[in-house]
Amino acid sequence: MQKTLEKPRVVILGAGFGGLTAAKAMADFADVTLVDRHNFQTFLPLLYQVSTAGLAADHVAHPIRGALRKSGVAFRMGSPISVDHKNKSVKLDSSEILEFDHLVVALGSATSDFGLPGVHEHAFGMKSVHDAITIRAEVMRRFEDLCRFEDETVLSIAVVGGGPTGVEMAGAFAELVRGPLKNDQAHAAAHIDIYLIEAGPRLLPSFSASLCARTKKDLEKLGVKVRLNTAVAAITPRMIEVKDGESIPSEVTIWAAGVQGEPTATKLNLPLIDTRIDVEQTLQVKNYPYIWAIGDIAGIKGKDKRYLPMVAPVALQQGKFVARQIKRVLEATPLLPFAYRDKGSMATIGRHKAIVEVKSFKLVGIPAWYAWLFLHLFYLLGGHNKIGTLADWTWNYLTFDRGNRHIMDSM
Ligand SMILES: Cc1cc2nc3c(=O)[nH]c(=O)nc-3n(C[C@H](O)[C@H](O)[C@H](O)COP(=O)(O)OP(=O)(O)OC[C@H]3O[C@@H](n4cnc5c(N)ncnc54)[C@H](O)[C@@H]3O)c2cc1C
Repeated sequence: MQKTLEKPRVVILGAGFGGLTAAKAMADFADVTLVDRHNFQTFLPLLYQVSTAGLAADHVAHPIRGALRKSGVAFRMGSPISVDHKNKSVKLDSSEILEFDHLVVALGSATSDFGLPGVHEHAFGMKSVHDAITIRAEVMRRFEDLCRFEDETVLSIAVVGGGPTGVEMAGAFAELVRGPLKNDQAHAAAHIDIYLIEAGPRLLPSFSASLCARTKKDLEKLGVKVRLNTAVAAITPRMIEVKDGESIPSEVTIWAAGVQGEPTATKLNLPLIDTRIDVEQTLQVKNYPYIWAIGDIAGIKGKDKRYLPMVAPVALQQGKFVARQIKRVLEATPLLPFAYRDKGSMATIGRHKAIVEVKSFKLVGIPAWYAWLFLHLFYLLGGHNKIGTLADWTWNYLTFDRGNRHIMDSM
């Protein structure tokens, strides 16, 4: 009689883009336990729409247990506090100990303040649904304050960081002000300034120069004050201090300027490289062949010797890849190096304004905007979220309104 092989125990830390994909991809040949501090997965690319009142917070969060239904994958809500490498087990903050044959670390990334004074205290990060709701509440609360004034008092909102998140957010704030807030109270809306501050010489440095220039022009058309070559030195409660330049007023500062590997990784006793876990090209952690790291937390370099970007496609591809690698270990076949397939990038600036770049192919304006909408709707998890998002977007599009302007951070 043929002996059935026992399924390996795999523990995956983090149920984001990488972790959830990996869990589903190995469910048929492994006993998988997925761990996350939240009971939902956040669709980070649309988070900025929650903070700018375009989408309800529920629509960007998908219950992990719902995503795993019928997959056979177990879920634990909690955080890892240590790894026992001798006994191959991970301890969670609930005190539960999970034993594993393979451990996959997919903890993502966190906001980095580059050690600049005041960022942590006086700026808002944008890494979670909670952050997004807090920003929305703060902006709407300041707007309500401004509505009391009939003089020339100005409210300044500044987004620091000219990458996709900063660009999308600044554009969405400008549209919020020009549309819904203007209809709510025109005098107050006319006294809101939106700044986008970037240390480098151009926005969206990963896109080609012509698309960067187009983005700047589109943002300026929306009324955003774009400040390039403007390196932040410090943030104070009402001001952004700039290196070698004039300070910029800012009552609400959003920090979209930097990310680093999720600090929880430091508790796992694994080798780190520049805040990320040091991995081989196979995605195995250096010197720990039974531990793997994927997504934002994995410090892996591409052909150009630079770290792979912290973007969802890298995490999704590595999630599937790590499942195949673990299967290769079980089948005793040689492991392969991970190769990232870059399918291009896109960013939206506002209604009918977006850019798409796939190698030398470029798309701008209305077709790019529809491509952006379609792709984000496609990748959003869960029918409930897709329908809810489509409903919010249709409402926003047809009425020029935004129905999610609630102040709901504290009740
Ligand atoms: C605001 C924003 C917008 C973005 N927009 C885009 C975009 O438009 N396109 C794009 O391609 N990429 C975008 N990204 C980047 C993209 O979301 C990430 O590259 C991707 O999510 C990485 O996947 P991951 O699985 O490594 O991490 P994540 O998807 O972040 O998942 C990490 C998981 O680990 C969990 N976790 C973290 N710490 C702990 C802990 N201590 N205990 C337990 N669980 C923990 C988290 O809750 C999370 O579920 C954006 C990121 C942000 C923040």
